[in-house]
Amino acid sequence: MDPLTLHLTTLQTLLHWSIQARPNEACGLLTRTRLVLAFNDAERPDLCFLMNGRIRQEVCLSDDSPYQWGGLRPQDAYMLWHSHPRTWAMPSPEDVILMRQTRVPMVIVSLVPTVPQVCVYILDEEIPTRIRKVQEYRTSSLQSSGGVL
Ligand SMILES: [Zn+2]
Repeated sequence: MDPLTLHLTTLQTLLHWSIQARPNEACGLLTRTRLVLAFNDAERPDLCFLMNGRIRQEVCLSDDSPYQWGGLRPQDAYMLWHSHPRTWAMPSPEDVILMRQTRVPMVIVSLVPTVPQVCVYILDEEIPTRIRKVQEYRTSSLQSSGGVL
């Protein structure tokens, strides 16, 4: 599996957490074996997110193909994720800054469309000022739908 492909369970969990956090942004990270929901410690969590490392909830991934990224150790972040309750799944200027600082892929869950959208972005390896969308998912249901995304 492409290392930037999100499992169905991952998509369902991120979507569930994003809907629960509305109208605020949900945020967290993915490690090789865990999905983490962090507290959004921003002053205006409805407008942006800030992670101070306080974990709200964690899910272990039991998939055969845990996420991998470069030489990161399992406890390291593999991707960051957050939700956009009121905007599309495009990185904001602040999101791009964070991507440049962390250099890890970013997952954005947008609750704007009727069918929620999940996109994965990375920094372009050749042109670091540019970001590239590498995955896009639409999912209408939190129920297992046999991979219909
Ligand atoms: Zn954002």
